[in-house]
Amino acid sequence: MTQEELFKVLVAHCKEYGFIFPSSEIYDGLAAVYDYGQMGVELKNNIKRYWWEAMTRLHEDVVGIDSCVFMHPKTWVASGHVAAFNDPLIDNRDSKKRYRADVLIEDYLAKIEEKMNKEVAKGRKRFGDAFDEAQFRATNPNVLREQAKYDEVHARYKAAEDANDLAAYKQIILDCEIVDPISGTRNWTDVRQFNLMFSTQGSNTSGSDDVLYLRPETAQGIFVEYLNVQKTGHMKIPFGIAQIGKAFRNEIVARQFIFRMKEFEQMEMEFFVRPGTEMEWFEAWKKARMAWHVALGMGAENYRFHDHEKLAHYANAATDIEFNFPFGFKELEGIHSRTDFDLGNHQKLSGKKIQYFDPDLGESYVPYCVETSIGVDRMFLAVLSHSYRVEELEGGDSRVVLGIPAPLAPVKVAVLPLVKKDGLPELAQEVVNELKYDFAYQYDEKDSIGKRYRRQDAIGTPFCVTVDNDTLVDRTVTLRDRDTMEQVRVPISELRSIIDKKVNMSNLLRKL
Ligand code: ATP
Repeated sequence: MTQEELFKVLVAHCKEYGFIFPSSEIYDGLAAVYDYGQMGVELKNNIKRYWWEAMTRLHEDVVGIDSCVFMHPKTWVASGHVAAFNDPLIDNRDSKKRYRADVLIEDYLAKIEEKMNKEVAKGRKRFGDAFDEAQFRATNPNVLREQAKYDEVHARYKAAEDANDLAAYKQIILDCEIVDPISGTRNWTDVRQFNLMFSTQGSNTSGSDDVLYLRPETAQGIFVEYLNVQKTGHMKIPFGIAQIGKAFRNEIVARQFIFRMKEFEQMEMEFFVRPGTEMEWFEAWKKARMAWHVALGMGAENYRFHDHEKLAHYANAATDIEFNFPFGFKELEGIHSRTDFDLGNHQKLSGKKIQYFDPDLGESYVPYCVETSIGVDRMFLAVLSHSYRVEELEGGDSRVVLGIPAPLAPVKVAVLPLVKKDGLPELAQEVVNELKYDFAYQYDEKDSIGKRYRRQDAIGTPFCVTVDNDTLVDRTVTLRDRDTMEQVRVPISELRSIIDKKVNMSNLLRKL
């Protein structure tokens, strides 16, 4: 499925079942801003709980905080965001639309790749079993021509990126004859740097000192609270501080659904270590974070590390955990060894000593730091896009199922009286009372039982419990499994423990 096709299907499904709505839809929406609905908020909260408990409960040396979106403006000077948190932007004078110059070039390169892949597919069809892809790519004149074009543009693009050369970006766009997808013209402005931070005005004083930024990452809240947490918590290095919270970036994007938004949520953890030990911790956190993902059961083969070739000036190692979204492997989480860049700069700019006295070494130093940073919304998209499937059933019927990992599912169990009479709704309420203290549930008595099962499949409910006339006699119910659609008869008294085995988050945490 292409990105566009998948997003179309997911956007419609998310809206129909109360997971995600385009923000301010009654006013025709707001680009790259989305609201979570009644189902979405449950899934999102479960993702956050899984991360929070894995971080702060399973790691004795990691504690949490909740810092504010607004911070002293000097924070963002120290972090480098005021000077360098930029995207190269270009406008088309005819459509009046704004684009990221790097994205236009990357899309152009992707089109060349697509052409080559089409040639390869043709070759495979023509030669059948005898097809040798490597040989075909090395000899087919069409592929060779496209590959040469790709290599040339790619090399120029990387050079422009490394040198931050805005004129070079523009020249590539002109030379490749890249047109605006809307106006179809090449009437481009120059490329300019555009800072991604949103700003607003404080009310204390006037003037530029009074600019307040909406944080573009939660991490800086952790760095400025480092001393407070270390002192009040009597924390000994190595230790970590975790935080979940909103971040804001003025992203210029088109049609990326919740993969890239202007307002999003991050789950970040900064782990402070003795200088010189950061590489060990970098490796340890890579392992721990990968294990967290794989434990969800969405397939180890769907994750990979992508090491950064070009490191940010503050990092001495960096990798992404990429997830195999239906539109390809894309960044889900970043793991960075950030040295003493952040704490060191805050120390310089604030004039406050931010150091740790290491009793084992008998000396003080600015700690080094390893960061793990994952977007809640991107994780949500990973879970949702992986879980969404349409299954053909016997008799020509089909069902849409969200095979969400059970501990993350928004609703764990649905309680359904077979009919709305004969005392079955009352009995079903008894079952609800038995289950409601442990599990998020839905009670549903509308429509045929088949329709109700479909509704629960579509929101990913792992279990349905049906109460029927036999229940009146023997206090047993039908328990239906979302994935296998298997139905078994079980006593009401055993429901809790059967459901718990599959949906309880502590069982997931135990795998880590
Ligand atoms: P990208 O290269 O995709 O822009 P990034 O490298 O800028 O991401 P980081 O600054 O490392 O991202 O942020 C950490 C994580 O926060 C990312 O891995 C991603 O999951 C999430 N994230 C970043 N920007 C956005 C956004 N605009 N919308 C949703 N999630 C985001």
